[in-house]
Amino acid sequence: MAKNEDIFKKIISHCKEYGFVYPSSEIYDGLAAVYDYGPNGVELKNNIRDYWWKSMIQHHENIVGLDAAIFMHPTVWKASGHVDAFKDPLIDNKDSKKRYRADVLIEEHISKLEEKINKEIKKAKKRFGEKFDEKTFRETNQRVIDNQKKIDDINKRFADLINNNDLQGLRSLIDELQIACPVSGSRNWTDVRQFNLMFSTQMGSLSDDASSIYLRPETAQGIFVNYLNVQKTSRKKLPFGIAQIGKAFRNEIVARQFIFRMREFEQMEMQYFVKPGDEKEWYEYWKNQRVRWHLALGIPNDKFRLHDHDKLAHYANAALDIEYEFPFGFKEVEGVHSRTDYDLSAHQNFSGKKLQYYDPDTRESFVPYVVETSIGLDRMFLAILANSYCEETLEDGSQRTVLKIPPLVAPIKLTVLPLTKKDGLPEKAREIMDNIKYDFMCQYDEKDAIGRRYRRQDAIGTPYCITVDHQTLEDNSVTIRERDSMQQDRIKIENISEIVNKKINPRL
Ligand code: ATP
Repeated sequence: MAKNEDIFKKIISHCKEYGFVYPSSEIYDGLAAVYDYGPNGVELKNNIRDYWWKSMIQHHENIVGLDAAIFMHPTVWKASGHVDAFKDPLIDNKDSKKRYRADVLIEEHISKLEEKINKEIKKAKKRFGEKFDEKTFRETNQRVIDNQKKIDDINKRFADLINNNDLQGLRSLIDELQIACPVSGSRNWTDVRQFNLMFSTQMGSLSDDASSIYLRPETAQGIFVNYLNVQKTSRKKLPFGIAQIGKAFRNEIVARQFIFRMREFEQMEMQYFVKPGDEKEWYEYWKNQRVRWHLALGIPNDKFRLHDHDKLAHYANAALDIEYEFPFGFKEVEGVHSRTDYDLSAHQNFSGKKLQYYDPDTRESFVPYVVETSIGLDRMFLAILANSYCEETLEDGSQRTVLKIPPLVAPIKLTVLPLTKKDGLPEKAREIMDNIKYDFMCQYDEKDAIGRRYRRQDAIGTPYCITVDHQTLEDNSVTIRERDSMQQDRIKIENISEIVNKKINPRL
């Protein structure tokens, strides 16, 4: 098994063992691509949500929140283009009977070519050391030039095929590139078909077409249809934003990567309404802001990359993905999209209601343009866990598994441990716990030897443990142990909150 695949499997089983993520309805053998969050998972998820919400709403005076319903009028999805265009091209391998997204098969083929280039670069870097100049190398090494040309050609054809909805062409490209099924190894493919990703259900007791509604595939439309309500009631002038966090549902064709691709998931989206013509400037602004948000969590820069879209969605005039390097490769965690006035204009046409902004300075009315930031909460959760998971061999030769979760979002911030279960130590530890539990999420643990208790906290990513011992009873001091360095210091009880707060409240 490849090393990264191995680590990914370990992360999945760690998530289950330590109460982060469970398969849904597990006692009935689970439900494909649906997951439940356990006690530690829900804390981590809430903390990521809070971090996003604060950075959008609390730190921007001109962004306000919204919580729109999941069910919406069916015409919303007609107007937004989702009924006609929210489709993925699917293809089956006749031998393995496995189903794939045709576009993903081609993207993976391109990734393999990119990997070849990266290998050449790595080798050359090693050979030339300090003197290595990547730009010149890319321009002069024949193997790199050939592979880059292949990538550019495929990308160009691929973008044309997707933009023209040419399913026959996609199938021919898969044949030409000799893409084989990873399971059967054969190239015995079916034709490519379109598959709409929206779940539909019935509202009320009638089950005719007229009562058919969709589970929202994105939260953004709830923002668009409320644009006027929010603008008027919050009296915002352009530019201003509306942010929302909520569930979205997609009947994904292939959902094999744990919580990376789920059929029920959560999005954190912000629509920024701007004057037409200003959208490029705000697109750049939000791209930079969002990258800063990710880096402020302490995840290394080289774990992220930006990927500009060649193939634009039906509503966009510019779009990029912020990709994180998961154990299965660089994949999208967030999209930044310049959505033009597509959605508001469409809703204006379909509803017959004016969705415009009156500019008091120029005395003109117009439909605003929109720049959107859209991040998957579950994907961010997975990115944080993947980045945090470490297996370490300690100086004494023992092993520990530690989740180096950024303290700001760690499920438990501090655990209080009495050294032993007697001599009044548990009572003193409880007294401390009862005092600081109002400041942040704490846990109390008195079971097992102290070393094992530290390991348990390492495994769920608790940044600090404090140990209450006999000296505590004499001078009100405790030992504080930091998760990553395992360094221990003696501090006064009254300083605990300050030390922990400093660590968990970084400023953006
Ligand atoms: P992908 O290309 O991976 O299917 P997308 O481009 O369709 O993603 P968007 O429509 O831009 O995704 O949605 C915004 C964000 O929502 C994504 O960046 C991702 O983090 C999250 N997201 C989308 N689909 C899923 C899913 N099935 N499971 C979990 N998160 C998802």
